Amino acid sequence: MTNPLQQAAQAIVAGKHVIAVTGAGISVESGIPDFRSPSGIWNTYPPEQYATIDAFMADPDRVWNMWYDLGAMLSDAAPNPGHHALTALQDMGRLDAVITQNIDNLHEEAGCTTVIEYHGNAKHMRCLDCQRVVPLDMDKRTSKAPRCTCGGIMKPDVVLFGDLIPEEAVRAADHAAENADVVIIVGTSATVYPAAQLPITAKHNGAFIIECNLEATDFTARITDAFLEGPAGTTLPTLVEAVLEILQ
Ligand code: NAD
Ligand code: ZN
Repeated sequence: MTNPLQQAAQAIVAGKHVIAVTGAGISVESGIPDFRSPSGIWNTYPPEQYATIDAFMADPDRVWNMWYDLGAMLSDAAPNPGHHALTALQDMGRLDAVITQNIDNLHEEAGCTTVIEYHGNAKHMRCLDCQRVVPLDMDKRTSKAPRCTCGGIMKPDVVLFGDLIPEEAVRAADHAAENADVVIIVGTSATVYPAAQLPITAKHNGAFIIECNLEATDFTARITDAFLEGPAGTTLPTLVEAVLEILQ
């Protein structure tokens, strides 16, 4: 019997279209807490009160205060070995795309070139009136929501609860999930839909599912073929090593 690590590595080597679906867990070791951790920013700013489109529209100034705090935390964060391991797989020609629910830009900062941002990117903001997208300039922080040159209110260019997922990201992610023969799920609790549907779609089409998580999730019993338990900053580099060993 081969162990889950070997099974996962063999699936990646045999796979023609390998994708990764990542969530907040992959960035925890970069110092960005996920929604579930008991301490940190989400305690001060409960997501259901600050990360909904209704909360934003009701009081943009109040919600921007939280986004500036979050922005400061994101600018301090750097990619960790988990992000770098996925980039290494990409550079070896073994990973087609990373679909991420994260808004922290860390896959890009790790050199990943095929990132499908399912929930947008907090380093940018978008005008609610003219849709112009510009970088978020932390130095221009005031107590008010930033304004566009057209006078419109700027919103962080992220998908808030109640927002639609950007059409292009949905199309690209659906296409990648439908064609994948291996999916590496990393650090997502499988609770936020429709992102959580992507590995399920792939599984229905026959994909082999690798899950790298600290603990079992709703995916584990339902669709996971190889569960790699532990922090992604350890399990993903180990997985890359196991792939390299087979290839040597
Ligand atoms: P989640 O917080 O619901 O779940 C995170 C999962 O990662 C949990 O299962 C947890 O056990 C696991 N985990 C924690 N540390 C880990 C580690 N070191 N290695 C591997 N796994 C680890 O996150 P979610 O499913 O991504 O859903 C939350 C939503 O909030 C997402 O849609 C995302 O857009 C947003 N969010 C983003 C960030 C970010 O950009 N970094 C941070 C928090 C929340
Ligand atoms: Zn505008």
